[in-house]
Amino acid sequence: MEWIQEGKMEEGKVIESEKAVLSEILQDFKKKEKEIGGELAEALKNTKREQNFLGKCPACGGDLKIIVSKTSGKRFCGCSNYPKCSQSYPIPQFGSITPLKKGCKVCGLPMIFVRNGKKVFQMCIDPKCKSKENWGKK
Ligand SMILES: [Zn+2]
Ligand SMILES: [Zn+2]
Repeated sequence: MEWIQEGKMEEGKVIESEKAVLSEILQDFKKKEKEIGGELAEALKNTKREQNFLGKCPACGGDLKIIVSKTSGKRFCGCSNYPKCSQSYPIPQFGSITPLKKGCKVCGLPMIFVRNGKKVFQMCIDPKCKSKENWGKK
């Protein structure tokens, strides 16, 4: 009977050491997962920043970005140097907005591409821009 008991003990030992190896692998994986997760979050943050960036602020040279107001929930184009710079422009509240990464031919301010259902158009962010003089007159 003695060898069986011994055998059992050996068996138990093997399982224990396997568990140790496994938990080591798991810990390593979790550590890596955290690192990978961090890198991913950083990459996502960068693309988000890129997506929201419209162009240079004409008043201070900062970044004009699409900003969603925390109080009203409305979006607008504002300067990254706010509150030092209060430059802002209204933008459409509906539809998707894609920065065109080019300046308006008339005033040089950033242009955006707006897609709202079937309505698709480009616009300069300055509501007073001369490029919009004929808007709605056709
Ligand atoms: Zn500014
Ligand atoms: Zn313009």
